[in-house]
Amino acid sequence: MKHGDNAETLSQDDLRAMFKNEDKAVKWVESIVWRKTGIVCGKCGSTEKIKPRANKRERRYWCGACRSTFTVKTNTPMADANIGVRQWIEAAYLLMTARFGISSYQLSKQLGITQKSVWYLLQRIRLACGANLEMKFRKLTGTVEIDETFLGPVVGRMNDVDKAKWEAKWGKNQRGTKGKNMVIGLRERETGYRIYLAFKPNQIPRKPTVEKIIAKYVEPGATIYTDEASYYTDLCNLGYKAEAVKHSTGKEKDAEGKDRETPCEWVKGLAWTNGIESDWAVMKRAWKGTYVHWSTKHCQLYANEFSFRLDKGNVKRDTIDRLESLFSAMVGKTITYKELIKRDTEENRTGAVRRDPAFNRDLRKAREEQQRDWWEDDCIPY
Ligand SMILES: [Zn+2]
Repeated sequence: MKHGDNAETLSQDDLRAMFKNEDKAVKWVESIVWRKTGIVCGKCGSTEKIKPRANKRERRYWCGACRSTFTVKTNTPMADANIGVRQWIEAAYLLMTARFGISSYQLSKQLGITQKSVWYLLQRIRLACGANLEMKFRKLTGTVEIDETFLGPVVGRMNDVDKAKWEAKWGKNQRGTKGKNMVIGLRERETGYRIYLAFKPNQIPRKPTVEKIIAKYVEPGATIYTDEASYYTDLCNLGYKAEAVKHSTGKEKDAEGKDRETPCEWVKGLAWTNGIESDWAVMKRAWKGTYVHWSTKHCQLYANEFSFRLDKGNVKRDTIDRLESLFSAMVGKTITYKELIKRDTEENRTGAVRRDPAFNRDLRKAREEQQRDWWEDDCIPY
């Protein structure tokens, strides 16, 4: 359906009509994944000596190079025998079109698959969402808004059992940012292209790391608008045109030398960060309403989901285009269930021996080392 100048939307009926059976769905995915390259073996990457198998129904191919068979699902998150491509498409469609996301419990009822399988499926879709879908990797240019937010539980509203657990880990009377994920968002104003980076509660970056992040993702010479947080005070020295908007009130001297409250600024000429801040509003509503909470170690996956959904505004691109870009990004994005749920042992250890300063110092060093590796890597980690 067309709404004025907006993009073409796709109803659930249209979607089901498009993908009447598994064969049609598989053909569609083949046409996207192999559009530019022709048929590629998912096991060895060869494009030669490939023959379709006699059993056409399954659309399996024989690769003469590695002498084994494959389908379009091989080497993608869909390489899962129990979930059909149609269900993958439907899940991706529902996740993409729901502004505040969709919980695994809800989706499990809609797809008729167990909640555990759906949770794993959704996490793998989120993994693909983070693949810098349209532009591969490029630096942001022009005008860039940068802001950070903290996502986490409100301790005051927890029940006694949860509160005791939380306090054992993070200490009593902790307020504000303690125990929360930090998400940094960079948004190119002209295109709306976004990059979100999530940090675990025990890996909240300091100013030098934030500056490294900005240097990595934003082209020098770009104009950067931020709020007045201390992270962003020295961006001019890094070769950016930077301006900060003041969100809090403070004291300043007026013409007669008396103290007066400075008004709080939201928009100063072109310097505003409202674009990225409205993203946080959407994310926080989803956090509270749809997901209720998510595990801090998976925050980057959820951040991927939101950056993908909000990219270019969710009304300016045809739904089928967005589905296509998601499925084309799935190649190579595989993760096993075990890898996904593996315990962050370091995080657990921190809870136990937080009071030992020497240990904390070593841990901080180890973490900084880890973060360095992280930034040298060329893509956003899942
Ligand atoms: Zn092969």
